Amino acid sequence: MSSLVERDQKIVWHPYAPPSASPLFAVESAEGVRLRLEDGREIIDGMSSWWSAIHGYRNPTIEAAVKSQLERMPHVMFGGLTHEPAIRLCERLVDMSPPNLDRVFLSDSGSVAVEVAIKMALQVWHSRGRPERRRLLTLRGGYHGDTFGAMGVCDPVTGMHGLFEGALSSHLFAPRPECRFGQAHAESDIEADIREFARLLEAHRDELAAVILEPIVQGAGGMWFYSAEYLRRVRGLCDEFEVLLIADEIATGFGRSGKLFACEHAGISPDIACVGKALTGGTMSLAATLASDAVSASLGEGEPGVFMHGPTFMGNPLACAAANASLDILDRGEWPDQVAAIGAQLSGELEACRSLPAVADVRVLGAIGVVELHEPVDMSVVQPAFVEEGVWIRPFGKLVYTMPPYVIDSDDLSRVTTAIREVVGSIG
Ligand code: PMP
Repeated sequence: MSSLVERDQKIVWHPYAPPSASPLFAVESAEGVRLRLEDGREIIDGMSSWWSAIHGYRNPTIEAAVKSQLERMPHVMFGGLTHEPAIRLCERLVDMSPPNLDRVFLSDSGSVAVEVAIKMALQVWHSRGRPERRRLLTLRGGYHGDTFGAMGVCDPVTGMHGLFEGALSSHLFAPRPECRFGQAHAESDIEADIREFARLLEAHRDELAAVILEPIVQGAGGMWFYSAEYLRRVRGLCDEFEVLLIADEIATGFGRSGKLFACEHAGISPDIACVGKALTGGTMSLAATLASDAVSASLGEGEPGVFMHGPTFMGNPLACAAANASLDILDRGEWPDQVAAIGAQLSGELEACRSLPAVADVRVLGAIGVVELHEPVDMSVVQPAFVEEGVWIRPFGKLVYTMPPYVIDSDDLSRVTTAIREVVGSIG
């Protein structure tokens, strides 16, 4: 076993892992779409480091921006101070995001951006003299992060609410939408799909602060793509019953689903939106919560007239410089073709998995390819098998999936899909 892994296993925690994580691989460096392991092997990254490294690793534009910012000011507190990288980033986020999102709160991670969104929604109703509106309505199969507020709106089963019973707020859960994205659905199917959501919204309107959901793509809660019409109905119902809509675009933001933001598939604007992950091209931890003018106005007018949140590293200039550089790369306009090409290739090459005995479903949207199995994978077998095949794929539960960097070429993507077919094919 490598000495780094041995040292790690004595002392370091890893995500969703026991005290000694295994199997574990030490990475020495990363460049383009390749991770170089400590033992010298190079593997192709099919995960973009959990949706974030969309431009690949060591992108020169981002590196130059971070180096230049480092020479000026790595960090300065954001309370009472401001700086150009943060202002420029917020201006650009407002310009590029769906209409109606006019003000930006920067934070350090996706989970915190969700906490901020939830606190904003609760504070809005407090300001408007309706402090009893504190609950949230969301969808089963959702994932919004691991901090307490965010965890409270994750799927109760996969989010392991039972473990934290009594410590989580009590929210409302509508069934996962069953109408799939991109398929024609009869009006009656959409009606049936949204019925329980609409019932819960109407019945609890007086205690609801907001609806929170991942638009179109449910990520870590199930890798599920649902119909744009469902999302349009949600927007309509939120308007009808005067409940705020929070769109968690942390996984979908910046092109992954084929649109810059997944809300665009349905042509809707939320009242509050969260972005993170790919915001810095996967180089640094940064997230943002965007809010409409109406939300900001309510926060400013009511008691105490300030929004009650303020992380130490809010607006970190290095992270903002990285994000501005990542947006510069997106502005070059290559990403829609890259994402479309990845999607077309994934659709073609993953289709062969459908006939494998272990496979329940294959689905692709944008640069996301999912092979759902009948049974959860055995990670102690599957993870080393992928590395042996020369790719980095990190399944969870029954889901083997890839969302590669947008810059991956077709040969490397074929190696990823071949590895998925081989490894899934070897499962009994
Ligand atoms: N929301 C969604 C939709 C996510 O996919 C994630 C991360 N997987 C989060 C929130 C939480 O983000 P972070 O891990 O940066 O806290």
